[in-house]
Formats: sequence, C-alpha cells, structure tokens
Amino acid sequence: MKVIDLRSDTLTHPTEAMRRAMADAEVGDDVYGEDPSINRLEERAAELLGKEAGLLTASGTMSNLIAGLTYCQRGDEIVMGDQAHMFWNESAGVSALAGAQIRLVPNDDQGRIAPQDLAEAIRPKGNVHVPPTTLVCLENTHNRCSGGVLTPDDTRQVAEIAHDAGASVHLDGARVFNAAVALEVPPSELVRDVDDVSFCLSKALSCPVGSVLCGTEEFIGQARRWRKMIGGGMRQAGVLAAAGLVALDTMIERLADDHANARRLAQGLANIEGISVDPDSIQTNIVIFELDPSVGTATEVIQALAQAGVKVTPSRAQSLRMVTHRHIDGADVAEALARVSRTVAELRAAHRAG
Ligand SMILES: *Cc1c(COP(=O)(O)O)cnc(C)c1O
Repeated sequence: MKVIDLRSDTLTHPTEAMRRAMADAEVGDDVYGEDPSINRLEERAAELLGKEAGLLTASGTMSNLIAGLTYCQRGDEIVMGDQAHMFWNESAGVSALAGAQIRLVPNDDQGRIAPQDLAEAIRPKGNVHVPPTTLVCLENTHNRCSGGVLTPDDTRQVAEIAHDAGASVHLDGARVFNAAVALEVPPSELVRDVDDVSFCLSKALSCPVGSVLCGTEEFIGQARRWRKMIGGGMRQAGVLAAAGLVALDTMIERLADDHANARRLAQGLANIEGISVDPDSIQTNIVIFELDPSVGTATEVIQALAQAGVKVTPSRAQSLRMVTHRHIDGADVAEALARVSRTVAELRAAHRAG
C-alpha cells in the first residue's frame, strides 16, 4: 500500500535539477562573504521581494529568531497573533534569547489581526512601568489558520499602526510565495509595507534546507552578526543556495497545483459524515478540519488513518491538519479521501457499538 503523506510540505525532496545544481555549485567561505552561490541567492531573493538585501539562514525558526534579536532589546514587547507559529512552535526563542515579552492579540480564522486590537495593544515608549512595543509580527500564509492569506491591504493597515507607534514589522512569510500565488500578486507587493520578511526554501519550494531573511541593508548587516552569534555562519553552504536558486526559478508557479489539490481535499472531506470544514475557506495548501466527537479524538483518528496509509498531523484536540505538496497528485487526493471516508465510518460505527 502506498502511504499518502499529508503531514507537511517540508517532506518534499529536492528535484533532479536541484541535485545537479548542488553538485555543480560554485562555493566559497560565506562567513567571509565569498560564496558566490549564496550571494546570488540572497540578491535574487531580495530582488523578488523588493527589499535591499537578503541573508540565508538554516531555517524559518532561525530567521524569525534573528529578526527578534535584531529589533529588540531585553525587556521589550513583541505583539503577534494568538495563533502565531512564533508563539506556538519556536520553543519560546524570542523570549528566551532576545529577552522580549510576547503580547498576543486575536487572530481571526484567516490569520488576520484586527487593526483596532493592535492599536490597543501597542504600548508607549518612555514609561518606566511598561515594556515598549518595538516589534509587531505577522504571518502569511498563516499555518494554524488553515493557510489563510493576508492581502497587501490587510498588511498595510496593520503596518501603518505599528509604524506610527515607532514599532517595526516582521513578516513570518515561511509560505509567502503560496500567498502571492493564491492572490495572483507579485511577492514584492505583498511585503511592501513590512520592514523585513523571512521565507522557507525547505517547504513547498522543495529545497533540502534553508530560509532567507530579507530587509534593508542596515537590518541585514545587523542580522548577519546575530546569525554568526547563534552559530548560523555556514561556510560553503553554496551547495544549499544552489538548490534555492533553482527553487526561486522553477518552484513558485507550481504552488497553484498544491492549492487546487488542497481545495479538492477539503471538498471531499466536507462530504464525510463526522468531519466539518468549509472548502471555500481554503486559500492555499493547508487544510485544517474539525472532527465530531462521535469519530474520536484527534490522536485516535491519526492512529487509525496511519494504519489506513494516510499520514496527518494534529492541529487542536478535535482538529487535524493536512498539507498538500509536490509529491501529492490528484490521484493521491482521491485515494486519501476514500481511505479517510472508510476509516471515519469504521470509527463512528465502533464508537456507537462500544
Ligand atoms: C515552518 C514554519 C516556520 C519555521 O520554519 P522551520 O524552517 O521549520 O524552522 C516558521 N513559521 C511558519 C509560519 C512556518 O510554517
């Protein structure tokens, strides 16, 4: 039985073209600024995103941490959405290492922050009793909000409030190219109003490793020092950058296929008794769906699905996440739906009987 693995788009393997580019990559010592492949990748990423400079890092987590370290002093406050990946899944990095306190404001079901909530959360500088808000973080697409997308206008409204209060805006754009493809806008337009953006090469873009942080020359200059301090100076990592260059040239437009497959998946799931999801709310490649208690808990359903050859991850106590990616085609979607439908019916019958 072929296992259909919908746990994450990080499961994608490098393409043949990437492997060839990696084998042939021109390299040098990047800590001396002498790796031509990395320099090209950083320039190309910055150009695509309309920023002055770029910095290759080991991961999205490292890019987000470096942004926090670069903008914040100990005792500052960072405002972000209550479903932010930086809050849930990055081991409290900005709190532990940048010494900044995180203040949460609600995310709506698409991962947006209401401008009014942000305005009320931002704190003044210069009052000895309160931590100054120096950074606001947005996420696009939004992982825990089912791949929801922020439009350029959503981003502008929030960025204006932050900037008026003297705070910077970091965009955790791990999947920012998914957002650009879904909205059919140039990535640079999507990130115009943020001070910096990080994106992952290692997710749907299919690279083995890496993330790029992009912002002003000054910001990237400082970020480069923080990257070195936390052990992220990688020497001849041009072998990784070479795959990144192939990704930026060939892997962005095809994200539309992942989005179409996610939509099909959601449409099929919506027809299964015991599962609820609104297929029209699925904008990119992440499908989060609710389980009726009659089916079981997320943990029980994950185990049963794994036995049926479908791998998924938990989202909340009664919800699961499926992510489409380059190794999932239309036939896999149909087969996954058939297996889920069978498994859920069996679980419901067993619960009724038991
Ligand atoms: C995956 C992800 C990250 C972290 O990236 P890693 O490369 O896994 O460290 C950060 N933010 C979001 C929204 C993500 O989905």
